[in-house]
Amino acid sequence: MTEISLIHGPHTSESIPVGSIYGIGLNYADHIAEMHSTRAEEPVVFIKPATALLSGGGSLDYPAHLSQCLHHEVEMVLLVGQPLWQATAAEAQSAILGVGVGFDLTLRDRQSEAKAKGRPWSVAKGFKGSAPVSQFLRTDTVGPLQNQNLRLTVNGQLRQQGNTAQMLFSCVEIVQYVSTVFALRRGDLIFTGTPEGVSELNIGDLAEGRLGEHLHLGLEITAKIRTEAKL
Ligand code: MG
Repeated sequence: MTEISLIHGPHTSESIPVGSIYGIGLNYADHIAEMHSTRAEEPVVFIKPATALLSGGGSLDYPAHLSQCLHHEVEMVLLVGQPLWQATAAEAQSAILGVGVGFDLTLRDRQSEAKAKGRPWSVAKGFKGSAPVSQFLRTDTVGPLQNQNLRLTVNGQLRQQGNTAQMLFSCVEIVQYVSTVFALRRGDLIFTGTPEGVSELNIGDLAEGRLGEHLHLGLEITAKIRTEAKL
């Protein structure tokens, strides 16, 4: 499914087609430390194709044909509500129509290899199903964007916990930056970075993410069932 659901009220929601999916890397100091990386002077941006979207979560076949090290990264995800090009801070602020919680799923072995060889992260970050997201709530109903609790459990055990106050680049700064490089359209999503605690997901695991009081995302990792091709 290439649409997300924006909740307007107790009984009303809107389906919005998703365009481009952007991700911001290295946006929490504690995660930079655990990756043995260094802080960037400007946001580190990567792109996931629309086929990466897994709207509402559910289940994902472990991508064993690509990797042996699938990592979770729980993140606040922004839904862009209007076209933006070289936005001012005020324009960026008013263009953030909704927020959700998502997992920036990452093939860590492929990413490490790409970093070492100076190659792009597209396979590590953009494989099919690498962008599960929850439903979205309207920005004006969730309180301050830079004070939202984020957490992720795997099989009920806490793995990641943080607050969007810890972001190095704020949501407005991120939207402004992406608008200056790529331009944005209604339906674009932006993953805003992950706090520390990233670790492996394996077949049979249930990952659950939460943002604030009301946003929840569940994802079960399943084994691919191979079916014989008919001759
Ligand atoms: Mg990430």
